[in-house]
Amino acid sequence: MRVYNFSAGPAVLPEEVLKEAAEEMLDYNGTGMSVMEMSHRSKAFEEIITTAEQDIRDLMNIPDNYKVLFLQGGASQQFAMIPMNLMKNKKAAYIITGQWAKKAYQEAQNYGEAIAVASSADKTFSYIPDCSDLDIPDDADYVYICENNTIYGTKFKQLPNTKGKTLVADVSSCFLSEPVDVTKYGIIYGGVQKNIGPAGVVIVIIREDLITEDVLPGTPTMLKYKTHADNKSLYNTPPAYGIYICGKVFKWIKKMGGLEAMKAHNEKKAKILYDFLDQSKLFKGTVEKKDRSLMNVPFVTGSEELDAKFVKEAKAAGFENLKGHRTVGGMRASIYNAMPIEGVEKLVEFMKKFEEENS
Ligand SMILES: *Cc1c(COP(=O)(O)O)cnc(C)c1O
Repeated sequence: MRVYNFSAGPAVLPEEVLKEAAEEMLDYNGTGMSVMEMSHRSKAFEEIITTAEQDIRDLMNIPDNYKVLFLQGGASQQFAMIPMNLMKNKKAAYIITGQWAKKAYQEAQNYGEAIAVASSADKTFSYIPDCSDLDIPDDADYVYICENNTIYGTKFKQLPNTKGKTLVADVSSCFLSEPVDVTKYGIIYGGVQKNIGPAGVVIVIIREDLITEDVLPGTPTMLKYKTHADNKSLYNTPPAYGIYICGKVFKWIKKMGGLEAMKAHNEKKAKILYDFLDQSKLFKGTVEKKDRSLMNVPFVTGSEELDAKFVKEAKAAGFENLKGHRTVGGMRASIYNAMPIEGVEKLVEFMKKFEEENS
């Protein structure tokens, strides 16, 4: 039996995709082997990766002057790769809206001057700061954001005014959850294990003029965007099976109607949960309403004991991974693209019942 999996990542994938992959496990498309077993230089794999790239280009409407790279090392490796490749002036502006942004900011300090131009640390990252008129240095190489804060459950509803500087965004936990205007960014990147596929793949969408040989001295070959762009993500063996699953998820999103439809589906799900939280006498959302994420919904009862009881009873009832991040406690329901609407409806039913029994 499948459970409702509210994990923040690795996270729920479309059942259809998993079934298809299972069917193709022993013999992919008449090759007599699994995608796991085939050469990344084979005709079959070449078709998998080029189709995957085309499908994400279609979904996000990615202009021709952007490259799509399928890399490894997790989103965390980008925390270093970005400054190594982009810090020509050794200066960059960071907006600190949670732990992932903070980690990226700290990592960048190894390579140059990373400046925190805004932060919501004063209220435990429960909101997105006003970024309409930040003090961004004239010689900053880029402005960095974490667009959806997986742990705290906030999302930038409006991109910061970068004063003409290149915008770099970590979209790990909101990738393909709604339409985006790619032209507003220099780099959009994310680990796929939150909303797209299995852990082990990072997708980097990067404007071509940012791909140069002029990187910080000592940058390893594998950490230059140019290496991967010049070789169409096949400089070395890519995470082939993961890319294959991502490709299937792209097809699934296309079938669901693309990113507009995904957004409508996600808004509908989030509304069910937020509406319940807003009228509940027991459960409370922890984030400023205007900045609420459609993907990650943290909430608390106000009592650690009741929180623990809730998580335990929810698990027994088939709702998995509702415990909040280890650094913040409480609960968090991650309701990514592949979470069906019934999952959220049944969770709310369960919460109502828990509230009645415990008040
Ligand atoms: C999970 C997550 C990361 C870290 O991803 P890894 O692939 O484990 O390095 C970074 N940023 C965001 C927004 C995340 O949600």
